[in-house]
Amino acid sequence: MSNVSIFVPHEGCPHMCSFCNQHIISGQTAKVTKEEVSAALGRALETGGDNKNQIAFFGGSFTAIPKEYMTELLEATVPFKDKFNGIRISTRPDCIDEEILDFLKGYDVRAIELGAQSMDDEVLSLNRRGHTAEDVINASELIKAKGFELGLQMMTGLYGDTDEKAILTAERLASLKPATVRIYPTVVLKGTELDRLYKSDEFKPQSVDEAVNLCVKLIPIFERAGIKIIRLGLHASEGVEGEMSAGAYHPAFKELCLGRIYLKNALAVLEGKEKGTVTLAVGERYISQMAGQKKINIAHLKEMGYDVKIKADSSLKEYEVKVINE
Ligand code: SF4
Repeated sequence: MSNVSIFVPHEGCPHMCSFCNQHIISGQTAKVTKEEVSAALGRALETGGDNKNQIAFFGGSFTAIPKEYMTELLEATVPFKDKFNGIRISTRPDCIDEEILDFLKGYDVRAIELGAQSMDDEVLSLNRRGHTAEDVINASELIKAKGFELGLQMMTGLYGDTDEKAILTAERLASLKPATVRIYPTVVLKGTELDRLYKSDEFKPQSVDEAVNLCVKLIPIFERAGIKIIRLGLHASEGVEGEMSAGAYHPAFKELCLGRIYLKNALAVLEGKEKGTVTLAVGERYISQMAGQKKINIAHLKEMGYDVKIKADSSLKEYEVKVINE
């Protein structure tokens, strides 16, 4: 059994974030009921449980939905309390205060993820987020002070964003010491404000390649700080593929990023080496990452004159690449 994710669309959200199509899909997305929550948890248990998995209420604005409805959903989890490792929710940074945190504690909510998206106030304002970087800092501190696990989410390639601003965002988020982060390159969904800006040539969405190159710089910022990256890129889904008009979407985005890191590191160790056949060693679990998605790294190195063979070397750590002299 894995985490049980329950999507809670935020009906009547007063915001209009540039990238969000909630307003377009609301009315088409049925409101999840307490009965559906119970049924989903019951079904999950039938496939086996070991108390390690969490009940996850996602949708981005859990603490902003009406309290009565929030209580109904949380109450539905109570009979399953002992079967799961608590609850995780995601919400907006400006929808956190002491009162709501105390309320969530009563329902065994253990992890709270905040959609920070950017730590640059101009980017937040241009994308109509309706909160500031200061709100992210305040909410993060409160969440940690109350003993919850903190998760932070950022986006890349928003309107007005730059690589420099994204790197600064990652550094500022890392300094808040969350347990986890999610990085989402912007995908332009049809009918959104970003879509309008894109179609009127006021906004140039990030390409997959640009997003990969940027994420290769963001990943080490979090990993060096011991922060787990639990998501890189939107989940592969037909919904996104059918609804998007542009942007950095790839169903295997994470693999592309990890492969690019290996390529970068391979190029560094190959610098100055004679062209021809070379053997590169990487840790046992990382051979496919060294080869790259659809062996793109091997093809790239071949174009540069290197006929690459890859070998496993259990002494090597993640991202380490060594040239073997044979
Ligand atoms: S992303 Fe923005 S507009 Fe969409 S539901 Fe969340 S707060 Fe509302």
